[in-house]
Amino acid sequence: MDSLNQPDLFKATLWLIALVFFIFFLFIYGFRKIRQGVKDAFNPDGAMESGKVTESDSDMAFVFNTFQNTLKDISDRKHELIRMHRDAEERIRQVERYNQCILESMVSGVITFDREGDLTSMNLAAAEILGWTKDVSPVGKSFEDVLDGSDHMKEILNKVLEENRKILREETTFTMQNGDRRWLGVNASPLKGDDGEMIGTTIVFTDLTEVKELQRQVELKNRLADLGKMSAGIAHEFRNSLGAILGYARLAERQAVDNGILRDSVEGIMTEVKNFDAMLTDFLNFARPVELNREACSLSDLVKESLDVLSEETGKRGAKVETIFENAFPVFADHIQMRQALTNLIKNALEAVGDQGEIRIQGKRIAGRSELWIHDNGCGISMENHKKIFEPFFTTKREGTGLGLAITQKTILSHQGSLTIRSEQGEGTLVIVSLPIHNAPV
Ligand code: ADP
Ligand code: MG
Repeated sequence: MDSLNQPDLFKATLWLIALVFFIFFLFIYGFRKIRQGVKDAFNPDGAMESGKVTESDSDMAFVFNTFQNTLKDISDRKHELIRMHRDAEERIRQVERYNQCILESMVSGVITFDREGDLTSMNLAAAEILGWTKDVSPVGKSFEDVLDGSDHMKEILNKVLEENRKILREETTFTMQNGDRRWLGVNASPLKGDDGEMIGTTIVFTDLTEVKELQRQVELKNRLADLGKMSAGIAHEFRNSLGAILGYARLAERQAVDNGILRDSVEGIMTEVKNFDAMLTDFLNFARPVELNREACSLSDLVKESLDVLSEETGKRGAKVETIFENAFPVFADHIQMRQALTNLIKNALEAVGDQGEIRIQGKRIAGRSELWIHDNGCGISMENHKKIFEPFFTTKREGTGLGLAITQKTILSHQGSLTIRSEQGEGTLVIVSLPIHNAPV
C-alpha cells in the first residue's frame, strides 16, 4: 500500500470497516449466547441433551470464519481500489496526452514561462514561428533569450509578470536569427495554479506576416489607384497643352525654312513633345482599367507583328533576332493589348543588348500552357533592381518611362497569364510569358 501511496483516509476506512464487522460479530455471538442461556433456563434437561458445549464451539468457529471472511472481503476491496486508482491514473495520462495533441496541432504558437521568466513549454507552432529547430530545446531558457527577436514581446511578458494582468490583441514584429522579420498578433496572460496564485505566464501568438503583406499590397493598390485617377486627369490636360505646343512648333517650322538654327531648335522641340506624348500614352494605358476585347490569335503572329513595329530599332542597333516556333501557339487574347505587351518586352531586350546583341524568341508548350521565352544576352538586371522592375516609373534608362513592365504585367495577368523574369547582371535576361492554351482555330 505504501508503495502505491494510498491515502491515509483509505487506510483508516479499511480499519474502521474491520472494527465495525468485528463488533457486529461479537454482538451476534453475545446475542446467541444469551438466547441459548434463556433456552437453557426454560429447558434445563434439554440443555444437556442438546449438547451445550458443542454449540458454544461452533459459535466460536462461526465468529472466526465470519471475521476471516470479512478480512478477505476487505482485502478484495483493497485490490479493487488499487485497480480503480490505476485506472484513474491512466485516465489522467490520457487526458494529458490529449491536451498535448491539441497544443501540438494548434496553428497558434503557445509558450509558457514560470514566475522567474524561464521557459516551461513551447508548442510546435511556436517553435516554427520563432525559428527553433527540433534538435535544440529552449525549455529552461530565460525569456530574454527566447524572445530575443522582439523587445515589445519582452515588455509584454514583464508587464504580465509584474502587474498580474492580461494583455490582449497586441501586434508586434519578431526578428529571427536569419534576419527575417515576422508580424505577430500576441495575447499574454498570467498562468494561475489551483489556489488562484500566479505561477507563471502564457503567451499565445499568431503569425500575421502574410496578412500584413496582403494588407500592405491592398493599401499600395488603393494608393496607386487614387494616384492613377488623379494623374490620368492631369495627363489629359498635359496632352491638350502638348497638342497646342506641337501645333505652334509646326507653324514655327514652316517659318524657319531659311533659318537652319531655328529649324533645328524647332525639330528638337517637336521630338521632345512627341516623346512626352508617347510617355503620357503609356501612362494613360497603365492608369486605365483593363477592358479586354478577346479573340483567338497566335503567339507567333503577335511576335511577328511586334518585330515589324520594332524593325527600325532592331536595324539601328544591329541586333540579331531569332524566332523559333514549332506551331502557332494559339491563345485567346486582346490582339492590340497583347501585341503591345510583347512589343514592350522585346523592346526591353533590344535596349539591353550591345553591339553583339542576340535575342532568341521561342514558343513552348509547357504543362498545358502556351509560353513565350524571350532570351537576350544583354546587360542583365541586378538583384537590387530586380525587386523594383514591375513598379510603375522604375527605370534605369535615361529616356525610359518605367511603365513598360508595369503595363505588360497588368495585361498578361488580366489574360490569366503570368510574367516571369530571370536575370543575372552581365549575363543576360530570360523573360517568360505563360498563357492558357486556346484550342479554337485561329
Ligand atoms: P523602361 O523600359 O521604360 O525603363 P520598363 O518597365 O520596361 O521601363 O523596364 C523597367 C526596368 O527593368 C528597365 O529600366 C530595366 O532596368 C529593367 N529591364 C527590363 N527588361 C530588361 C532586360 N531585358 N534586360 C535588362 N534590364 C531590363
Ligand atoms: Mg521598357
